Amino acid sequence: MTIRLGCIADDFTGATDLANNLVRAGMRVVQLIDVPGTGHDVDADAVVIALKSRTVPAAEAVDASLRALAWLRSAGAEQIYFKYCSTFDSTPAGNIGPVTEALMEALGTDFTIATPAFPDNGRTVFKGHLFVGDVLLAESGMRNHPLTPMTDSNLVSVLGAQTIRPVGLIDHTVVADGAEAIRSRIAELRANGVATAIVDAVSNDDLVRMGAAVQGLPLVTAGSGLAIGLPANWGFRPSPAAAQLPPAAGHRAIVSGSVSEATNGQVLEFLKSGRPAFSVDPLRIAAGEDVAGQALAFAEAHLADGPVLVYSTEAPDTVRTVQGRLGAAEAGELVERTLARVAQGLVECGVRRLVVAGGETSGAVVQALGLTGLRIGPQIDPGVPWCAAALPAGETLHITLKSGNFGGPGFFTDAFALLDAEAAA
Ligand code: ADP
Repeated sequence: MTIRLGCIADDFTGATDLANNLVRAGMRVVQLIDVPGTGHDVDADAVVIALKSRTVPAAEAVDASLRALAWLRSAGAEQIYFKYCSTFDSTPAGNIGPVTEALMEALGTDFTIATPAFPDNGRTVFKGHLFVGDVLLAESGMRNHPLTPMTDSNLVSVLGAQTIRPVGLIDHTVVADGAEAIRSRIAELRANGVATAIVDAVSNDDLVRMGAAVQGLPLVTAGSGLAIGLPANWGFRPSPAAAQLPPAAGHRAIVSGSVSEATNGQVLEFLKSGRPAFSVDPLRIAAGEDVAGQALAFAEAHLADGPVLVYSTEAPDTVRTVQGRLGAAEAGELVERTLARVAQGLVECGVRRLVVAGGETSGAVVQALGLTGLRIGPQIDPGVPWCAAALPAGETLHITLKSGNFGGPGFFTDAFALLDAEAAA
């Protein structure tokens, strides 16, 4: 086992986003769901450990991150990548600052960088200020985020409020001059006692230059964008081989608990094609009906003919009505539990190619199926790869976990078509 890069991601979909970028840059990547026990062997160039540490109390985030670090070091990781959201989601209490400082201390290093820039997704950093699309962070929707409202766009001051040691800036003029100039600036900041530097990036080229400059730093911290520039440090080049999964076979199904606009479009497109679909109604679950059993009986009758969809996806008005009757949390939980049971039953019926739509829904399904790790495969749509996971009994399940707003209208059928194309290649 020769893990080059060990990554600690502060949430699940963020972990997949990072893993996907690393695969596209040529690394073979495994994403682990939480910190594994000792003795868990992984064959990959990079491992991404997905935590749920973004909005928990800082001490818990630090604790989980240090456990992840210990596992990654024991697996031989040569560099550690702490991944957070590209909108730098955090509060003055953390968790980006406290986790960064705890990792630095554990690694015995006095310097790291921080940048959430990901120009392909409209996240750019200029003079230390984060832009979301065309507007400053504090003028974007993040201003009103319920858990991590971002009201200051200057990341030097945002991070400075969360750290004990000083935060500095490597600005775009230095980054534009290349890796050598960035390294000189790092030496200068270090000599002045700066522990963490926000780094500007407005283009992928900036991220590539930054990647080269941070070769050998024990720790880097970033959104998923920096992943574009790191794999080349070990000689990796983009190659389809990095995304290769074992051959896919078995029945196909889609489980959708997402109520976002994109997923509504995808479900509609699937229904229009006349393929078999079963609608899960939260009110019937609440009334005590065995909706999971009904869905599975329906699926079993149709699985041999192609993909079957089981969905609770509804338009916002319908969802609001249900939430008004049951309460939003209660409705969500009922649906998640039901769809997780459906996913379990589908796998028992021989489904080995599974699409899951919805972030929370994905979490519930992954847990119900007892999955501990995902090998990251080819990308279906930006940010959404196919993955291969070992089922507890040892068989392989191909699974893709699509968070709400990702994917084009034909995502459900495109996903299976991609697996077929890979098999034919
Ligand atoms: P997304 O990624 O689109 O946000 P999630 O799965 O994260 O999707 O969240 C959707 C939430 O809505 C889940 O808690 C799910 O159980 C709940 N939900 C799904 N369908 C319905 C429905 N028809 N009525 C009420 N709540 C629903």
